[in-house]
Amino acid sequence: MTAVAEMLGKLIAFDTVSSRSNLGLIHYIRDYLAEHGVRVRIMAAPDGQPKANLWATIGPDKPGGIVLSGHTDVVPVEGQPWSADPFTLRDGGDRYFGRGTCDMKGFIALCLALVPEMRAKPLTTPIHFAFSYDEELGCLGAPLLIEEIGKQLPQPRLAIIGEPTEMRLGTRHKGCYCYEMRVTGKDGHSSQTHRGVNAIAAAAEIAGELIRIAEDLRVNGPHDHSFDPPYCTLNLGNIQGGTAVNIIARECRLEWDFRPVPGASVDLALDPIRKFIDSDLLPRMRTVAPETNIEIVPDLGVPPLIEEKDSAAEALLKMLTGANETHGMAFATEAGQFQQAGLSAIVCGPGSITQAHKPDEFILKSELVAGETFLRKLIDWVRSH
Ligand SMILES: [Zn+2]
Repeated sequence: MTAVAEMLGKLIAFDTVSSRSNLGLIHYIRDYLAEHGVRVRIMAAPDGQPKANLWATIGPDKPGGIVLSGHTDVVPVEGQPWSADPFTLRDGGDRYFGRGTCDMKGFIALCLALVPEMRAKPLTTPIHFAFSYDEELGCLGAPLLIEEIGKQLPQPRLAIIGEPTEMRLGTRHKGCYCYEMRVTGKDGHSSQTHRGVNAIAAAAEIAGELIRIAEDLRVNGPHDHSFDPPYCTLNLGNIQGGTAVNIIARECRLEWDFRPVPGASVDLALDPIRKFIDSDLLPRMRTVAPETNIEIVPDLGVPPLIEEKDSAAEALLKMLTGANETHGMAFATEAGQFQQAGLSAIVCGPGSITQAHKPDEFILKSELVAGETFLRKLIDWVRSH
């Protein structure tokens, strides 16, 4: 078994499904790095959850370093038909099975297994590890770590987010913004509809308007053909309301997300829905009952990765991987968050996103080899730059 596979086996064995603690894994990595003389900082979740981010630096403590970023959490396995224990690494010939092999403990295993090589000779440019928690819940952990960049932590030059891209260069991805609509109507006996304001009916009107806005964005909104689909999408994900069939519904909640192409503003969705509510729907509701209300509550927000032509990250990775094409990623990552902190950010890691989040998730051994080759080239580069 290679050093990478051995490390991957250890990481997979920690059940770090996002709803659980990642501290076992974080402490394992901390101890491993400490054994190799690497400076580590653990940043505990500020809300008291048993979770933490980890930041580590190899090389000089100065600005201009390279961040290797990965998330430590994985998606749940419940309800999925796994052929064997998801938390035991299984050798399947040309691949390794296990939850997180591809998304994205494979990348973290590569980073850790190569620490002895990074430490073998002095580095001119620092390499930082940024391992986060709760990425799968909407990139919740990374911002707390990124906040320290430029304050407690030296400002790095670029960040490589090792999400599975089959080592292709992901220079852009859509953002993802979630909202909850809270509709408060006026209840009453269902025979007296004229005396009440039905929150479900109001939510249905909002849903209809959101569908209309989505269609308008599909036809007339900004397009970026490196994505599938190339337009901004809006999806109604959840609706809940009412109490009983003979009561005019007093409350209804509607959840939706908006995924703009990079450069497109959330206002493309928010402005028209606000206008519809403020100038049409809510005035109608309030003529019946002034106490009725509609709240738009922003929930999660993951910024897009905006393409920067010939960015520092793109130039370096093109040189190291030999790739000359860049790609748009359909999925959101922490890359946009690093970019917002002033780093040149790129998504590039081993494995395929089509194998992520599935039963019998796997990573091809050839992908790990490609990742290892890439990191060795990166180590050579930081020794001389
Ligand atoms: Zn991931």
